[in-house]
Amino acid sequence: MASVTGPEIERLIQLLARVPGLGPRSARRAALQLIKKREQLLGPLAEAMRVANERILTCTTCGNVDTSDPCTLCRDERRDPTTLVVVEDVADLWALERANATTGQYHVLGGVLSPLDGVGPKDLSLDRLIARVAEGEIREVILALNATVDGQTTAHYVTELLAPHGVKVSRLAHGVPVGGELDYLDEGTLAAAMRQRTAM
Ligand code: ZN
Repeated sequence: MASVTGPEIERLIQLLARVPGLGPRSARRAALQLIKKREQLLGPLAEAMRVANERILTCTTCGNVDTSDPCTLCRDERRDPTTLVVVEDVADLWALERANATTGQYHVLGGVLSPLDGVGPKDLSLDRLIARVAEGEIREVILALNATVDGQTTAHYVTELLAPHGVKVSRLAHGVPVGGELDYLDEGTLAAAMRQRTAM
């Protein structure tokens, strides 16, 4: 197919097409909108991306992404230091925060156990999780993992790891649909699943 634009705009379209939720068609449309609204949209977006690219880092305490380490959530003294909510991914942490589902602290595992994909315990931030629990202030660990096979396998594995530490371990209620990913749930369902959590 002949290109209708020069390589610079083609590159913009190709990069946009790799953003989740955008395919090649939407990327083309988005690129055109950005170019048409150069001052209101393209310029500010480019600047926001430049700043984000320079300053974003991973919180060494919880695994959230932010521009400070410890992150904003870890530094917030209003949060409950006795409750730790374990999530697979930063997207899940953000979903729970959008839903105002908890005032606890977070721990991002960075994935779930998945033998088929070659993801084992060493690939997740489990050592860091155990170290945080071993500090002694945490009384309840809430496993807010996806209701997928891998998510639930991981939940059981983490429960066994935590057993010697004498903390209460619970998981989200089954308001989370089987196979459901937290990031796609509406805020009401997510908050209810947190409130009605059950002991592991
Ligand atoms: Zn943090």
